[in-house]
Amino acid sequence: MPGDYLFAEVARRVQAYEPVAPRPLIRLGIGDVTQPLAPAIVEAMVRATQEMGSPGGFHGYPPEQGHAFLRHAIVEAEYAPLGVQLELDEVFVSDGAKTDTSALPELLAADARVGVTDPVYPAYVDANAMAGRLGRYRRGAWSELVTLPCRAENGFVPELPTRPLDLLYLCYPNNPTGTVLTREQLARFVGYALETETLIVFDAAYKAYVTDPAIPRSIYEIPGADRVAIECCSFSKSAGFTGTRCAYTIVPKALVGRAGGKKVDLNTLWRRRAACRHNGVSYPVQRAAQAALSPEGRAQVAAQVRTYTDNAHRIVAALRGAGLEVFGGLHAPYVWLRTPGGQGSWEFFDRLLHQAQVVGTPGSGFGPAGEGYLRLTAFNTAERTREALERVLAFVDAEGR
Ligand code: PLP
Repeated sequence: MPGDYLFAEVARRVQAYEPVAPRPLIRLGIGDVTQPLAPAIVEAMVRATQEMGSPGGFHGYPPEQGHAFLRHAIVEAEYAPLGVQLELDEVFVSDGAKTDTSALPELLAADARVGVTDPVYPAYVDANAMAGRLGRYRRGAWSELVTLPCRAENGFVPELPTRPLDLLYLCYPNNPTGTVLTREQLARFVGYALETETLIVFDAAYKAYVTDPAIPRSIYEIPGADRVAIECCSFSKSAGFTGTRCAYTIVPKALVGRAGGKKVDLNTLWRRRAACRHNGVSYPVQRAAQAALSPEGRAQVAAQVRTYTDNAHRIVAALRGAGLEVFGGLHAPYVWLRTPGGQGSWEFFDRLLHQAQVVGTPGSGFGPAGEGYLRLTAFNTAERTREALERVLAFVDAEGR
């Protein structure tokens, strides 16, 4: 395995510079939320913990697929309003979308062919490399990995794969580019998967950031997707659960794979795997997640998400106003900035760090097609984000003179 070059290298450069920086650094590099848990969530977690401390309310191992109360809340609050009907046993609760997106390839043969977009959330690639599926790593690329480049020229929407695949990862709203797919664009991928019998793992970790109802929040809004797609969702970025840990994955019963010419029901297979590999998510955390889906909890977490999207919108407007080319940031907490003057991602990262004392993430760290871009995140406070923008604008202005 290659080392965790991106974030380790960012941390190394930041640590080296911070002691001599003329003012405190502002971090717009992190992909982690910053607001505290909402009151409805905290109350539910406290109540559930007290329940666990009483003889009548104690719970031992949770069901490995998740408590029915939470799966019911997910079906009713997250899918029914989209017109998507799910059965309770199509929902699997887990501790993270990272856990599930990394583990889902276990459903497939050891030599399954995997495709990802480029740039990409690195966990998909690393997990498949660790499973021995991606061949050899040479000059920054895996020999057996199919990558679909996403650049400004194609609006960050990949072309359909031209090489046969068994598994295609799609993540929308996208990390790192912050872009979304329209219904027609997503339908094209579903059509392709139906035609070619390709399994799609659809990572919807950022669906709470979609504000336009015309943009699908779930792949199951596309007819036929239940026959080709598994969807991974998370409370991390929608309800501030990055440190609390709760997520869910939908494996529809209509989904079948093939083994030796025979059909294999993937829902049964994933349940079999869940029972073997883990003992579920703790009761207080599942109660907390349920509270995030209650009417009161929804209003509270929606307000939190809104502050992040407001930050993102502010970043987009300010940078565009300064003549920079920016993408994403409308339905996502990520803004994807084209480095001015054709600078390399790391070169621009360093200049921004040293001239503006603002930390971003070099786009090239997410894949070769990310070269020439920088990712900024909207997870800092409104005040720090505003201050960071003032610094960036002053820096751009000084560079232009
Ligand atoms: N999927 C994407 C695309 C992400 O960006 C992240 C976190 O940054 C995750 C999944 C991780 O989600 P979780 O905290 O549920 O493991």
